[in-house]
Amino acid sequence: MFNFILFGPPGSGKGTQSIKIAEKYNLAHISTGDIFRKNIREKTELGIKVQSIIEKGELVPDELLIDILDDAMNKYKNVKGFVFDGFPRTTQQAKDLDALLNKKADKVSLVLALEVNDDEIIGRLLKRAELEGRKDDTKDVIENRINIYNNQTQPLIDFYKDKNKFASVNGIGSIDDIFNSICDAIDPFI
Ligand code: ADP
Repeated sequence: MFNFILFGPPGSGKGTQSIKIAEKYNLAHISTGDIFRKNIREKTELGIKVQSIIEKGELVPDELLIDILDDAMNKYKNVKGFVFDGFPRTTQQAKDLDALLNKKADKVSLVLALEVNDDEIIGRLLKRAELEGRKDDTKDVIENRINIYNNQTQPLIDFYKDKNKFASVNGIGSIDDIFNSICDAIDPFI
């Protein structure tokens, strides 16, 4: 199994690139953000629980994540692996993921970060706000999400660097150029 984590700040293009990676390498794409948004739209118990947290740009509590992830993974049979998009976001989640994969006699194969600076991200997210109207794409909430990313998610880079599973690519440029750089980083591992 090839278990790939696409890592990067909000607005770095994880969603767009994850779909392309999943298609090319025959992996299942799991986006925790998409799962939460679907639950909010459908007003499920989980959706109601997480709606206000997400609209404030805060992180959903770690203990909710691992069951959601396990369920999402179990929906797929006969895939060659997974692209995790938006997960893990905290060191606790990374440890929980290791434990979950370990239970399945599996492990994280590669973590790849998309590098995009704060100014570019803020510009992209504000533009997305106009186009898609996501409630967490307002200026204040965007700032909160970037701060949370820097404080809680960024430290994960060291967690994976220590395990020699970390690579990064420049996340600024055309979608296809960035995709090609990602593929170049993946190919030696797959
Ligand atoms: P982005 O990366 O653009 O911020 P996502 O779609 O990945 O967007 O996530 C949207 C929101 O969903 C996050 O701001 C957070 O509130 C919640 N969320 C998604 N994944 C996680 C996670 N792994 N842990 C905690 N909260 C999460």
